[in-house]
Amino acid sequence: MTEPVITARAFFERARAGELTAVRCGSCGELAIPPKELCPACHARAWQPVPLSGEGTIATFTVIRVAPRAHSAGVPYALAVVQLKEGVSILGRIIDIPLDKLAVGLPVRFRPFVTPDRTSVGFGPA
Ligand SMILES: [Zn+2]
Repeated sequence: MTEPVITARAFFERARAGELTAVRCGSCGELAIPPKELCPACHARAWQPVPLSGEGTIATFTVIRVAPRAHSAGVPYALAVVQLKEGVSILGRIIDIPLDKLAVGLPVRFRPFVTPDRTSVGFGPA
């Protein structure tokens, strides 16, 4: 039987459906999100899917005030590196949090949203 492989494409499709999934290396235990071809730590390809809680805190953030035309309808908006409680980080588009309330360490929770360019998922109030 073949192990299910979670590709980056499948990762974002699942995220849009409300499910945040990382992969854990069956060789060294490293967690990766979004999924990568090979384990960055040991270069094995032995991924196993791991569901994530979606709970985390803002590690860093930046407010985008001027964006490419495809994104301009949403400006200003914030992008944050979210440190999930499982120990992995992911780029998040901040939703439903006033920009002046953003702070490093602020608790946030995953929202079923994926940016059109598939580079980040949504995070809103915890
Ligand atoms: Zn590994």
